[in-house]
Amino acid sequence: MKIISSPRELKEYLKNINNTVGFVPTMGALHEGHISLIKKAKEQNEIVVVSLFLNPTQFLKGEDLEKYPKKDEADKKICQLSGVDVLFFPQASDMYGVDEVSILAPKVRGYVLEGESRAGHFNGVLTVVMKLLNIVNPTRAYFGKKDAQQLNLISLMVKQLFMSVEIVPVDTVREKDGLALSSRNAYLSKEERVQALKVASSLRTASAMVSKGVLNSYEIITAMREMLAPLEIFYVEVLDREFSPLSHVEIGNTIILVEVKVATTRLLDNIWL
Ligand code: AMP
Repeated sequence: MKIISSPRELKEYLKNINNTVGFVPTMGALHEGHISLIKKAKEQNEIVVVSLFLNPTQFLKGEDLEKYPKKDEADKKICQLSGVDVLFFPQASDMYGVDEVSILAPKVRGYVLEGESRAGHFNGVLTVVMKLLNIVNPTRAYFGKKDAQQLNLISLMVKQLFMSVEIVPVDTVREKDGLALSSRNAYLSKEERVQALKVASSLRTASAMVSKGVLNSYEIITAMREMLAPLEIFYVEVLDREFSPLSHVEIGNTIILVEVKVATTRLLDNIWL
């Protein structure tokens, strides 16, 4: 596995490669969720590039940038064992200068759900993803459905800015008890982790209601909110795949999304129906 930290060097290296390139951007502290993205990229491409970059511009002031889990050496091992061909491992100074051009998230879709309580977060996400895609110039790039709004906004950026990369959504990987894997799960104490299970179980309840024919969004959201209490709820929403609210679940075109705070940790999850 080649490890490259300079964007220019990576561009130079990839210029001579005529194979399909699959790209998996990450912020590190890799887990099985990230590994499933890498596996999918390996299945569908000849070369796999993973980036490991804790992007400072997507954290708001006072958020967890400083305490975000860092496991660089373990991450490198995981990438090597997963058959990654190139690991892009830049420093912030390799990625950003002063007086920067940036991508602005759309004024509506970028400021609802997670974007409402983290105003500006998606500007940072889209800007870094644009930079990374321009450096790697991949055939396909892989993003988790767990971060559904991020996936939606990146797909929108690629479409609206006429970019050529194919964005590939990847299913959420969960612990046996249903908890969606996340690097931020490391913040949870034992007791908080038990509280966190309410998120996945509220989504399972929603799915069971739909299976029984309850399609009314209000009924589903009410039942989920009852289950999530007394956690601090940022949102529970029933949306279509383009992120517009639905009064009723439409099978094949629905995402039910939830975000809560357990102690100081934000947890988000969703199901696609
Ligand atoms: P992160 O390192 O948290 O920025 O995540 C990097 C990529 O992995 C993003 O596309 C995430 O959506 C994806 N990801 C994170 N957690 C999971 C999971 N549990 N299952 C599948 N993909 C995930």
